[in-house]
Amino acid sequence: MRRQEARDLARSLMDASGLFDWRFRFDHARRRAGVCTHATRTISLSGPLTDLYDADTVRAVILHEIAHALVGPTHGHDAAWRRAARSLGAPDSARLPSSLPAPDAPWVGTCPRCGATRRLYRAPRRVSSCGVCSRSFDASRILTWRRHGVAASPGGAYERELASLRARR
Ligand SMILES: [Zn+2]
Ligand SMILES: [Zn+2]
Repeated sequence: MRRQEARDLARSLMDASGLFDWRFRFDHARRRAGVCTHATRTISLSGPLTDLYDADTVRAVILHEIAHALVGPTHGHDAAWRRAARSLGAPDSARLPSSLPAPDAPWVGTCPRCGATRRLYRAPRRVSSCGVCSRSFDASRILTWRRHGVAASPGGAYERELASLRARR
């Protein structure tokens, strides 16, 4: 989503929730999409992630942070926060789905069946299969990993686990 549109959306959603005296800004975070800072009454979105997300995702992030602003700093993601999130129409789970794109994460795992990708900042420690086209572990959907776009091994322990899984089939 374009940043100017995200800023306008955030402002109108914040105002609609009565957060007139809260500020909105972008930050440079790459591992979390948004943050609510009560001390400075600021809701902040990651600029780089906003660039990658679609409008629905950005909207969900903004509403997530608005729910924090409304219930106060002591609640975290407790029942009061979940109630506020639900009443705003935000997903009441604390985390965004892991299938969202993350910029600059060097490791990219690809499902051999459906092509869905998963990005990680560190080499995966365990063998995993695609969570998009299968709900449970499926050896025919084990992700293949590339690092900075080049086929790469995540390491010895990973290879040993992979070999033992293959041997069991
Ligand atoms: Zn949160
Ligand atoms: Zn898949």
